[in-house]
Amino acid sequence: MATARGGEVTIRDLSKSFTLGGRQLAVLRSLSLDVRSGECLVIVGASGSGKTTLLRVLAGLERADGGAVAIDGREIEGVGEERAVIFQESRLLPWLTVLGNVAFGLEVRGVPKPEAEKRASFYIALVGLAEFSDAYPRQLSGGMAQRVGIARALTVQPEILLLDEPLGALDAMTKISMQEELARIWNEEDVTMVLVTHDLEEAIYLADRVLILPKEKGKAARLIDVDLPRPRDRSETRFVRYREELLREFGLH
Ligand code: ADP
Ligand code: MG
Repeated sequence: MATARGGEVTIRDLSKSFTLGGRQLAVLRSLSLDVRSGECLVIVGASGSGKTTLLRVLAGLERADGGAVAIDGREIEGVGEERAVIFQESRLLPWLTVLGNVAFGLEVRGVPKPEAEKRASFYIALVGLAEFSDAYPRQLSGGMAQRVGIARALTVQPEILLLDEPLGALDAMTKISMQEELARIWNEEDVTMVLVTHDLEEAIYLADRVLILPKEKGKAARLIDVDLPRPRDRSETRFVRYREELLREFGLH
């Protein structure tokens, strides 16, 4: 059930400010970028550099002050069915089972329940939770809940998956296995992925390209191509070099 090709994002001169304590705070400053169809773009940057703001603008949850964002050539206006968002917390409905949560998005779109559940079951199996279809959110670990969130997002077959630190709350071991899971799902689903993380290793493990958002005014955003075969090996010399390059970018090495 791979999605159709599409999911190309065009960002032109995007700017966004907030008023904080009477002061104007320019968060995104004339950002231009193309996200290719089927690409995995990972956004990194210091806390407060505007990662979440950028993702929310792409999701249509936040309006830009200037510039334009288009999906497959159409300028976005608010949220849209071709985009699905995954947050750090899975935001599952506690009164619904795993199956109910994943099928929910289809049911509210008018898909009949049997069909919705059939499609939901496919994605629940894809994230490795077939045996937990009847479980309730409170019975799941953090990693499992996040998988349900991923299945729920995929079930509506978006062209673009927007993820804001989706693994940020998980313990180190679960996080690594979920990174492998995300890489596999992205590979199987042919979906454009834009993922925010503060974990540089996660960025190199997943990204075709890494976008580094600057925190200081006057510094431009940078894009780094991650030219490594998949599945990636974290201990490989070239992987480690990319990690050092990113660390240097943050003045940490
Ligand atoms: P990041 O996700 O990179 O940590 P954010 O995009 O959340 O950064 O925030 C960037 C900056 O914009 C921060 O300084 C934050 O305080 C400010 N900001 C974000 N959202 C709002 C808002 N709704 N109102 C005012 N300021 C905001
Ligand atoms: Mg954030």
